[in-house]
Parts: sequence; structure tokens; C-alpha cells
Amino acid sequence: MTADHASETARTDFIRNIVREDLAAGRHARVRTRFPPEPNGYLHIGHAKSLVLNFGIAEEFGGTCNLRLDDTNPAKEDPEYVEAIKQDILWLGYRWHELRHASDYFEVFYLAAEKLIRDGLAFVCDLSAEEVRAFRGTLTEPGRESPWRNRSVEENLDLFRRMRAGEFPDGARTLRARIDMAAGNINLRDPAIYRIKHVPHQNTGNAWCIYPMYDYAHCLSDAIEGITHSLCTLEFEDHRPLYDWFIEKVDLPRHPELLAPLRERGWHTTAARPRQIEFSRLNINYTVLSKRKLITLVGEKRVEGWDDPRMPTLQGLRRRGFTPASLRLFAQRIGISKQNSLIDYGVLEQALRDDLDAHAPRRLAVLNPLRLVITNLPADHEERLRFPNHPKDPSLGEREVPFSPELWIEQDDFAEDPPKGFHRLRPGGEVRLRGVGIVRCDEVVRGEDGAIELRCSLDLDSRPGRPGADRKVKGTIHWVSARHAVPAEIRLYDRLFDVPDPDDGDRGGPGFLAHLNPDSRRVVQGWVEPEAASLPAETSVQFERTGYFITDRHDHRAGSAVFNRSVTLRDTWAGRS
Ligand code: ATP
Ligand code: MG
Repeated sequence: MTADHASETARTDFIRNIVREDLAAGRHARVRTRFPPEPNGYLHIGHAKSLVLNFGIAEEFGGTCNLRLDDTNPAKEDPEYVEAIKQDILWLGYRWHELRHASDYFEVFYLAAEKLIRDGLAFVCDLSAEEVRAFRGTLTEPGRESPWRNRSVEENLDLFRRMRAGEFPDGARTLRARIDMAAGNINLRDPAIYRIKHVPHQNTGNAWCIYPMYDYAHCLSDAIEGITHSLCTLEFEDHRPLYDWFIEKVDLPRHPELLAPLRERGWHTTAARPRQIEFSRLNINYTVLSKRKLITLVGEKRVEGWDDPRMPTLQGLRRRGFTPASLRLFAQRIGISKQNSLIDYGVLEQALRDDLDAHAPRRLAVLNPLRLVITNLPADHEERLRFPNHPKDPSLGEREVPFSPELWIEQDDFAEDPPKGFHRLRPGGEVRLRGVGIVRCDEVVRGEDGAIELRCSLDLDSRPGRPGADRKVKGTIHWVSARHAVPAEIRLYDRLFDVPDPDDGDRGGPGFLAHLNPDSRRVVQGWVEPEAASLPAETSVQFERTGYFITDRHDHRAGSAVFNRSVTLRDTWAGRS
């Protein structure tokens, strides 16, 4: 852990305060959290906020964090997502204590449901889905009780067992909690606990044709795993009374017999009474975070897949060049609260710059080449100049950069008719070539194809170590030796959407696709110094004066250099909107 990582994690927030108090009061011996993704898509930057919170709290307070795949819904899951989720968490640098599936607990959920029936707290209801809706009431009107609400315990047990045995078709019956149809909180109006669904499940196969509802399964999974603090986003605030109701009525700590199916599998769990705490979810401008919209982008081929470097998925961010440390830094900077807010995309980019500025080695690369020839050196002149890999961190060492009289510089660093305040090269003007000395542009030669070449003389007295080395000129530019440079494909990525709120006026519809930024991906053929081309795949560098780049995870290899732009050196979007 670096010093800035440690100091950033020393921050506090209302959830950490609760954890601290609970531990001080002796309410728990150990803090236990969990990260509970539904395996129906790839993790995105919003999930990173939750991961950093759950794993961070476990680390800081000497506790543990489980990875629980919330797979209660059989129709929607895909093993491809499960693998990706695991990979992403490991990549972020976190290790889960136990890997569990909500489906591991199906038998416990079932036994707990029978207990609720025996206690008169659950009943089998024959109303159709439509009728249930009609009976539910509204925010201002109480609901009506189901005519099946007062069935005897024996009849309920019999029907529930037959539901499990597969005697009834989908939707014919549900098991419902018996709470209060007049409750102000609609979630408490006899919510469904089980529904019939004759659909095989990725983990349990054909063993079940009834499946538990999220609100029932989630709190019990927490209790089974001994989770002390169940952290979730604000949409679940209204579900908390129901969460607490199930925890209290099933009362796992006092009914260890319900855990027998797990003990038979050799799992020893200490059931707890978990506490749900809600925090605001991450919203970020210039992007979309709902899984459904991300699936649309991939499905309609608006991007090149889940790991397209423009995607806000962890796989996309990784390929773009975001580091685990930069994502943790981002999460720590935005903090945790109950206030909903929209975070500026620039905050995410700045976290990456701050991480890479400290750690990324520097290299020279020219993206839009312009030829510059030094006329007062012999044509076959060749040198190996020593360059530090980092201006502030000598521990990153030095490298040799080949130099010869024929160079590539950036087109932008020369202007025939410069605007006011332009400090780079102009006809008759001078500029410092980084690490070489001062050149004067004596002549601009235009070839038949319109391409220009700059013919320059090098002030030999201005070279490093010479008496005139300190002579001041306004601009310094970078270069690569044309004879030695290696061609590279350079992918210039930018924000995927060109408006701050691509969802605006279109909650749920496909209209967000109209706001895709047409310039979010441009590819140029540039030249890089040999030491850049030979980097392994997935290595971050700063191309001096240009930005941070990463060798592409998939396409970069010896003999075929491919760089993705991670982020520019400065925020070019500030003030644009
Ligand atoms: P989506 O709405 O994108 O489908 P989800 O909330 O359904 O996301 P889950 O797989 O259920 O995704 O989420 C796993 C965990 O990550 C949950 O605890 C959820 O609250 C949290 N999470 C998901 N999105 C965000 C977000 N934008 N900000 C913070 N936490 C999030
Ligand atoms: Mg969800």
C-alpha cells in the first residue's frame, strides 16, 4: 500500500462511523461484509464504488468480505459473467473470504419458509399476478387482504410442499408473508416470498421449480453468512423494514436447526442479525451505467465489446489503462454518503492522471509526424542519448534514446504562420529539442505531394554539457529519430457520449444512442522510440507532452505496437459543456 493510498483510506464516512461504534460497543467480534452482484452483466465503475466500500471496510477493521453471486433468478444468468466478475475483483486487488451463491442456500430458505408458515406468518395465495396488483392498494389507499390469507397451517404446509414438488404450473400460486395489508410501506403488504417457475437453474439444475424473491433471499443470505453490515444502495431504503421483519421472524441465530443443510455440506456458519445500511449509488456524467444500456451498446455493436476501452465496465476501464490504484483513489475521493449526486467524468480521469503521473515511465512518441532534418550534422551521425524514465523518481532509472539528424516532430509543434503566443517552431525561429539542444528552422521545403520538411541547424554550443546549454528559448518540443523509430498504431479514445446526461428525457428508452460521441475513437499511425515499442502488453507510459497511454492487452505484440490513449495530460473537456 502506498502512502497516499493509506492516507486516503484513513478517511471516514457515516458507514465507517457506524462500524466503529458497533465494534466499540461489542456488538460484533468481527466485521463481515459482502459484495453481492447479480451475474447478469459485467461489473462497471458503479460496482467499483461498492467493492471498494465493502472490501475496504473489511480490510480496515480486520474483518472479512464475501463474494456472493446473487443468483436467485434462474432465467437471467450466464457463467461468462460469473468468470468476468471474479477476474475483475481479483484485478482490483481484492480477495474474497468465501465465494458463495445465494442458490447455495435454497434448502435453508425453504426450511425457513416452512417455519414462517408454522408460525402463522406465511400463506399460500392463489391470486393471479394481476389480482395481487389490484389488491395491493396505493400509496394513499390501504390494500385488501387476500381471500387465501387465513388458510390453516396444515393446508399451507401441504400446498407449499406441493408447489415444491412441481404439482402446479408457473404463476398458479405464490407463498406470501403475512404482515399487514394496511401498512403505509407497500413493501410490507403481504409480499411474495416464493414464486413457481419451471426453469432450470445454472447451479441447482432441475432441483427446484420454486424460487425465492430477492427481498427474502438477500437478508437471509446475509444472516446465514454472519454478515454484520449489509451495505446497499438507496433504492433499498424502503425495503429495510421488510429486511428487518424477515431477519426477526426467521431468527436464524436462535434456530440453528434451519442451517442443517449447510452443516451436512461441511459448512460451518455463525448466523448473525445483519444490519442494512444504504448509501447513494454512483452516477457519472458522459456515460451510462445501467447494465441494460451497456448490453444494448454491445448488442448493437456501437462499441467493440464489453472490454471496449470506451466502456465504463471494469474490463473496458482496464483496457483503457485505468489502474486498480486509480479506481480505488477515485472511489475514496468521491466518498460515501446518502446524498445522490452526479460525479463529473473529469474526477475519474484526474484520479488516473494522479496515479500515472507518479508511476508511469516517460517515453517519446510522435502521433502526427512532420519531418525535421538537421543540416549541420553528417547524414550518418548517430548517438545514444540518456534519458531519465521519470522526471521526479530516479528509482525508475534511465534509458537510451537513439538520435540522428533525421527526426519526426509533431505537426502541431510547427506553424508557418503562428498565432500570437506560439512558442514552438516557426520559419526562422528557434526551439529546444528535448535532450538535444536548440535548432533554428532555416528552410521549409515542400515536396511534390505537398508534405513539408523542415531544414534546421543545431546550435552545437547549446548541447547538454556545453557552455551554451543554458541558453533560454521559449519552447521545448519532443521528437523521435526517423531512422530508429518504430511505427505504432495509436488509438485515441475519448468520452463515449458527447452530452453530460445521455439519458436526458429518455429514462429507459434507446434514445441515449443518439448522443454517442462520433469522435470517441480515432486511430493514427505514429512513431515511437524503440524502448516504447518493446514494452510488454498492458503497460502504462506517459508519452511526453501528449498523454498517458497503455499497450493494448490484446493487440500489442513484438513487431506490432498498439497503444490506447488512457487520458490526456490535461482536462480538455473542462468548460466545454
Ligand atoms: P444495474 O442497475 O447496473 O443492473 P445492479 O444494482 O442491479 O446494477 P448488482 O449486480 O445487483 O447490480 O449490484 C451488485 C452490488 O453493486 C449491489 O450491492 C449494488 O448496490 C452495487 N451497485 C451497483 N451499481 C452501483 C452504483 N452505480 N453505485 C454504487 N453501487 C452500485
Ligand atoms: Mg440488481
